[in-house]
Amino acid sequence: MTPSLETIIQARMRLLPVIHATPLQSSQTLNRDLGMDIRFKPENLQVTGSFKIRGAFNKVAQLHQAGSQGVVTASSGNHGQAVAWAARYFSLAAHIVVPSHAPKSKILGAKSYGAQVEFCGTTSQERLDRAQSLAREEHLDYVPPYDDVLVMSGQGTIGLEIVEEWPDVETVLVPIGGGGLISGIATAIKAARPDVRLVGVEPAGAPKAETSRRQGRRIILPHTASIADGLISSSLGQYTYPIIEALVDEVVTVPEDAIQEALWLLMSRLKTVAEPSGAVTTAYLLSKPKSLKGRRVVAVLSGGNLDRSVLHQLTE
Ligand SMILES: *Cc1c(COP(=O)(O)O)cnc(C)c1O
Repeated sequence: MTPSLETIIQARMRLLPVIHATPLQSSQTLNRDLGMDIRFKPENLQVTGSFKIRGAFNKVAQLHQAGSQGVVTASSGNHGQAVAWAARYFSLAAHIVVPSHAPKSKILGAKSYGAQVEFCGTTSQERLDRAQSLAREEHLDYVPPYDDVLVMSGQGTIGLEIVEEWPDVETVLVPIGGGGLISGIATAIKAARPDVRLVGVEPAGAPKAETSRRQGRRIILPHTASIADGLISSSLGQYTYPIIEALVDEVVTVPEDAIQEALWLLMSRLKTVAEPSGAVTTAYLLSKPKSLKGRRVVAVLSGGNLDRSVLHQLTE
């Protein structure tokens, strides 16, 4: 259940014909202000607006090859959109289970890619149960958002691209939700370049990795909240947790106001639209960490599906 350089290279071959190239971007003014050489990995410009297509496509491609009738998942956000997109590519049926209160904007993406959207319950457990019973009843295959070797391997292709494009990179910053993104990237980077430092970033309102690291076991938080809606899972995955413990050098948290400041900075300096989950790495840089002074840093900007309502919150 653990990704390897080999499974990530296989993912890369599958993804090659469908994903966009996302070359690193930088701002001289920002570098001067912060005193580092920062390059952004702009996955906000990726197919479906986030990196999630990499893992979802890698998984759905394999299911299709194995004769799948269709797929189901329980995410209203970027993973749901990515699964819908990948299913359409292979002409497979897709069912996406979303919370009863899901905002319209979040489900429009999945609908526009032809998925069937079903509203169910308020807790993630209810939706997971529903998705799994749909899988049984309708003979669909469940596509996990992060705790899956093919999903992690797809996300890991970002790590290969970073070290190939910028061999001199010293530190890579990656957002942490359920931990699939950083598990894949860390596997790729530590295999190719063990000297590169991996730093995971999560919102202070959802510190599952930091708490788990401190207590030495996988912690399930009783409550999480953040504007970064892709990072509020209550725990790391059963499979992602040990990978993160083994390969990630440091885990840091960022406060809500820094995430909002980062969104604005990315707009004004890089002319880039990020969503809050994608902006947490930039939010950490804003604190000008001493350990990064003068360093060559990549910040993974993981997505750009900014909800219109968030814009209204970006007041001074
Ligand atoms: C899902 C998501 C993340 C977190 O990825 P995990 O694999 O759950 O850790 C980060 N940023 C964006 C934009 C996402 O959609």
